[in-house]
Amino acid sequence: MRSTDPAQHADPPNGAGSLGVVVPAAGSGRRMGGVQKQFLEVAGLPVLHRALLPFLAHPRLVAVVVALPPDDAARPPGWLTSLDPRLRVVAGGSSRGESVFLGLAGLPEVDVAMVHDGARPLVSIDTVDRCFRRAVEGVGAVAGVPAVDTMKTVGPDRRILATPDREHLWHAHTPQAFPAHVLREAYALAQAEGFPATDDAALVERLGLPVEMVPGNPENLKVTRSQDVAVAEALLGFMEGA
Ligand code: C5P
Repeated sequence: MRSTDPAQHADPPNGAGSLGVVVPAAGSGRRMGGVQKQFLEVAGLPVLHRALLPFLAHPRLVAVVVALPPDDAARPPGWLTSLDPRLRVVAGGSSRGESVFLGLAGLPEVDVAMVHDGARPLVSIDTVDRCFRRAVEGVGAVAGVPAVDTMKTVGPDRRILATPDREHLWHAHTPQAFPAHVLREAYALAQAEGFPATDDAALVERLGLPVEMVPGNPENLKVTRSQDVAVAEALLGFMEGA
């Protein structure tokens, strides 16, 4: 695979910073007709397994909390429980935000907290490390890529309301990394106020704190539709050949 001698990542700024990761993987697969996409196999390994590997390889990692649907959290798959002693499983909630909130509660004290969707099996360790390094410096970091398509803002009837300048538009992926106390505060406030969000950065942005886009690896797709497994396998082949 492209990148991945963990030793080359062993010296973040200040030579310090412990990393904890929350992996929301408690979705029910509604958009895939009830198929739990986190457990589908991509080239012989479950999507969730692949999503975890680059974090487990990071030299600053001290803990990972995986949020699973309550039934799966009660009986997690054997491959997951035997994967790494730093990993624990909690029951997720009824939304992604609730699952992350519950996962954060299970994370020990760390300097940097990251969130990564369990449905993104192709994140690279370079992407993880770029986000980590920015968060160690006190700035929120969101992995993503610049928009290549023209984007439209539409109303409920799909009428186009605006065509924002593509120069200023990025797709936000995960991981998203923050000083841990900032992310905990942002989630506590959002939960108390019932503020909904599809990503973690939005909760930190609304506190007026700095968050930046960090170039991610473009292959980092979220397995969402049934054809995405085949796409992920093709992209994986490309990454391994690069
Ligand atoms: O639904 P979406 O694709 O945005 O989900 C992103 C991630 O959040 C997935 O990994 C999914 O398993 C997770 N999720 C969760 N709890 C929910 C809903 C989604 O952990 N209730």
